[in-house]
Amino acid sequence: MEKLIYNLDPDEIELALTSWGEPKYRAAQIWKGLYHHLWSTPEQFTTLPLKLRHKLAKEYRFSNLQLEKVLLSSDGLTEKILFRLPDEQAIETVLMHYPLHNRQDRHTACISTQVGCAMGCKFCATGQMGFHRHLSSGEIAEQVVYCARQLAEEGEQLTNVVVMGMGEPFHNYDATLGAIQRLNHPQGLDMGARRFTISTVGLVPAIRRFTKENSQINLAISLHAADDELRSSMLPINDKYPLHQLIDACQEYARKTSRRVTFEWALVRGVNDTPDQAHKLVHLLRGMLAHVNVIPLNPTKKFIGEATTKRRALAFQAILQKNGLPCTIRLRRGIKIQAGCGQLAGAQNT
Ligand code: SAH
Ligand code: SF4
Repeated sequence: MEKLIYNLDPDEIELALTSWGEPKYRAAQIWKGLYHHLWSTPEQFTTLPLKLRHKLAKEYRFSNLQLEKVLLSSDGLTEKILFRLPDEQAIETVLMHYPLHNRQDRHTACISTQVGCAMGCKFCATGQMGFHRHLSSGEIAEQVVYCARQLAEEGEQLTNVVVMGMGEPFHNYDATLGAIQRLNHPQGLDMGARRFTISTVGLVPAIRRFTKENSQINLAISLHAADDELRSSMLPINDKYPLHQLIDACQEYARKTSRRVTFEWALVRGVNDTPDQAHKLVHLLRGMLAHVNVIPLNPTKKFIGEATTKRRALAFQAILQKNGLPCTIRLRRGIKIQAGCGQLAGAQNT
């Protein structure tokens, strides 16, 4: 099978072109076509001679993402996009629109890094499907290019990317970071690293590696519980990397990079939305540059827990805030269109 062109770094494109006897500057033109003009077919590369366009078409695939379905939430603010990959697997990308007064609207893409996930978190639709395969860096990058292209056609710009779709990004570390690096490139999409957020279930060695990168990409940790017993019952990976190891790695990250860590917490009624968990959480994160995002659980087929109530969520938030731990209550978007993590593609892949 031909290679996906989005899998290539600028120097790999240059290498291919020089091996074909083409001048180096053609590589820059191709890069600009892909990531600046957001062209999606070789025919659109009118800056190149026809012969080279044909050669590109023969050697490379220009897309691995075949659009299968788009679901729009009733308020029109969340779009769930289902893509079919060449090997028939399905992944999803979610595009969220945030209208702002007196300012350019914000548009955030939530992208996938794997088909399924090996981490098996009990409450997560992606975890419930098991692991199918890693996405290549090009397949990760192409999701962002797709969203940027769609927005450009509407005269809008993609402002943020959250790596919170299907899969565990730090289990597919090189492809995820490689894709973001390509999207950062100043002669291409030019999206600064601080516009990206990677969310991880807490793979400690990868967090330590990420700390060393000293990048401006934001880091979010899926915590969900403040003691080992409860966390292991919801997130099996906690047996391998228990809380003291995880928090230690986060503290090192915050200290070395001076960046704030976001902790994600899906509130399950009567399970982790209790005052006891809130107090334990305050204790766990004491002294760290941290922020907590709580989200009512998005119910899934194979998990019996229920979403918290508004009153309980507010009480949980109040305990954190009273103790100096910033906490935001987020609303899960797109529940009706199965835009909760992994829900739609999960239904297509099984
Ligand atoms: N694997 C990564 C990123 C993808 S999951 C991670 O776990 O962080 C993105 C976020 O959605 C995580 O915080 C995850 O815990 C959360 N999530 C998964 N299923 C959910 C559900 N049913 N309700 C609420 N949040 C959920
Ligand atoms: Fe994987 Fe994240 Fe879902 Fe856990 S919450 S199963 S790590 S995608």
